[in-house]
Amino acid sequence: MNLQPKTGDVDTPAPSHERFMRLALRQARAAADREEVPVGAVILHRGKLIAQAHNQVELLKDPTAHAEILAITQAAAALHDWRLADTVLYVTKEPCPMCAGAIVLARIPRVVWGVADPARGGAISLFDIFRNPRLNHRVDYEGGVLEEECRNLLQDFFRKQRAGATAAPPGGTAGASEEESAAGRPAIP
Ligand SMILES: [Zn+2]
Repeated sequence: MNLQPKTGDVDTPAPSHERFMRLALRQARAAADREEVPVGAVILHRGKLIAQAHNQVELLKDPTAHAEILAITQAAAALHDWRLADTVLYVTKEPCPMCAGAIVLARIPRVVWGVADPARGGAISLFDIFRNPRLNHRVDYEGGVLEEECRNLLQDFFRKQRAGATAAPPGGTAGASEEESAAGRPAIP
């Protein structure tokens, strides 16, 4: 995948990917600390950080409160524009179909993620939203940046959640979250 900027105004060479993924990971850890599925996202505009968010589905009781959606809202507010031109979105997990759709609507030119989500990812896995010729915007993407750290964070979270679920009272965290598939569930006893 050629991630060289097409317009010359996005200046994010590959080595900096890890640096910004670390910021996304910091957000993801903040989510884990709050009992949220640990996914974090940050958005850069021409190299400047304009948004950072983590999953807040539980806190907000909002199924759309994914890290990417919250970051996109922040970025649009910062730029006073719904078109997020010249931006790069870093997220610890491949976006789901909802977030991939929002990324297309926001015209984000480039997305970098940590761990892929073969079972539920909406960018290129379960759905192919970033490359779909029927849509009017294509998203340049790259996966696998700090993949192990991103995967481990999700796996640890779900492992602890399952361990706690046996002891927790009914009505607690029930069922597998959408993001759980990225944690490689089958590999976890
Ligand atoms: Zn999502």
